[in-house]
Amino acid sequence: MRPSELLTLTPSGLYCPQADAHIDPVRPVRRALITHGHSDHARAGHEAVLATPETLAIMAVRYGVDFAGYTQAVRLGETVDLNGVKVSYHPAGHVLGSAQIALECEGLRIVASGDYKRARDPTCAPFEVVPCDVFITEATFGLPVFRHPDTRDEVAKLLASVQLFPERAHIVGAYALGKAQRLMALIREAGYDQPIYVHGAMERLTEFYQQSGVPLGEIRKVQAAERPKLGGAIVICPPSATQDLWARKFPDPVTAFASGWMRVRARARQKGVELPLVVSDHSDWDDLCRTILDTGAGEVWVTHGQEDALVHWCTSRGIRAKPLHMLGYGDEGEVEPDTAGPADAPPVAEAAS
Ligand SMILES: [Zn+2]
Repeated sequence: MRPSELLTLTPSGLYCPQADAHIDPVRPVRRALITHGHSDHARAGHEAVLATPETLAIMAVRYGVDFAGYTQAVRLGETVDLNGVKVSYHPAGHVLGSAQIALECEGLRIVASGDYKRARDPTCAPFEVVPCDVFITEATFGLPVFRHPDTRDEVAKLLASVQLFPERAHIVGAYALGKAQRLMALIREAGYDQPIYVHGAMERLTEFYQQSGVPLGEIRKVQAAERPKLGGAIVICPPSATQDLWARKFPDPVTAFASGWMRVRARARQKGVELPLVVSDHSDWDDLCRTILDTGAGEVWVTHGQEDALVHWCTSRGIRAKPLHMLGYGDEGEVEPDTAGPADAPPVAEAAS
């Protein structure tokens, strides 16, 4: 069986004809295999959804419990048989419940990694290398200029600023699923034990992380009336809220933004971010390259992002590679600041195209 027979590109996304299943489809389909809960990968309206229990729960939080006609939980490490295709889910290290999906048939194995990172994240299971013939990767930060720093240093910058300006509120823009909770966990690891305040748009997802056993310490939802009293506090909110009237009600706010894009200083300046924190839930250039080599794949498909550079890197090493130029992805968790959703909209409206 050739790879293109096991998995083929359709307008709805990658499709396995034998299993009659799409991976992270961008349109409603009969059977969807979902890698993780970000809204560009996990959409409502499919007939059946197979995903990890955490991803199913996240989709229910965002879209309501009737987001699909039928759901089937597949745990990390578990394999299900779909008409002779072995489908298994493996940790991707991206957000809570995130999975790489492996399809195996007649000795051919293709791994669709969804979004993934190799950097440490205390809020989810670490990425697992799955040996395969074809590895499907994104390339959000697929240029050699993107090398993410140690997140501990970035959090230390935030806490140093809080110490330096104890009368100012620190308003940190971070995406509602994954980034926000990872930041909270990292702040706790750095020894900060005061309550952390959150915008209403991330309250339910943060609660879900805590219910799932991720320790985040005391998290308080910001009440409108108390904003002027929160000098010295750390407040985490959707990125666009940092530019809103909402943020200006805090005492002399310091504006921070946690994103891999903060590596680009001009972008931080342009967005009025005083305190850029380079924290990404995607692999940087080195980890993209390392992961491709680790899988041993002889062929690589690049879904979206900086596809050309990564394809070139592969082919220069004798690995067959092709860009898929897939539309509809561009992670909400790492969407560029320009396209962030409205701050007061519910999380479901954060989808980025
Ligand atoms: Zn994602």
